[in-house]
Amino acid sequence: MPTLYLASKNAHKADEIQMILGTHWTVSSCQELSPSIHWNETASTFRGNALIKAQALVAHTPAGVLADDSGLEVEVLNGSPGVYSARYAGPEASDRDNLQKLLKVLRGIPHSERRARFVCVLCYIDEARSVHYFEGYCPGVIIEEARGGEGFGYDPIFVPDGYDRTFAELSAAEKHQISHRGQAMAAFQTFLHEQS
Ligand code: IMP
Repeated sequence: MPTLYLASKNAHKADEIQMILGTHWTVSSCQELSPSIHWNETASTFRGNALIKAQALVAHTPAGVLADDSGLEVEVLNGSPGVYSARYAGPEASDRDNLQKLLKVLRGIPHSERRARFVCVLCYIDEARSVHYFEGYCPGVIIEEARGGEGFGYDPIFVPDGYDRTFAELSAAEKHQISHRGQAMAAFQTFLHEQS
């Protein structure tokens, strides 16, 4: 069974991707390759940052590596917080700090002008060292007050198009069906099936 190394220190992400890919692959976190692997997300695009993360692993293994970069783009803010989503309220900001900052920045802006989308870019570097990208987008609206206890990040203030519940009010399975990450993973899975 081929191993796929994931450029993330988040064990939860590795478990989630293992669940999606099933038994054809063994998904391992990069911590298992070397605890010293690190990277700096210095690019100004999701693609650029996903590539930086994937390339950080390539020197440590001949196996395939996968990295993801994701964030929230708000239309009226010209795409901010974008690649800075995780550190919108500062380098040590918590999910709650980031969400509160966004609500504050958008205060007074009417519902119809609060359009946003989540973006996820996956970068896969295969065993032959070819680079492949897979993208997913989930459009919706930023509401005025946080609702729901599921998920993470900006989930409590994001209502996806076609729903009246926030991402944080959907189950993980419901969210995965429509989310940016779910769509990018589906494209990656299709690619892997076509290769096998
Ligand atoms: P990274 O891709 O791990 O660098 O994280 C990007 C940041 O974007 C996260 O810390 C969250 O703030 C935000 N983000 C990405 N995907 C989601 C999501 O599905 N729900 C809520 N926030 C998200």
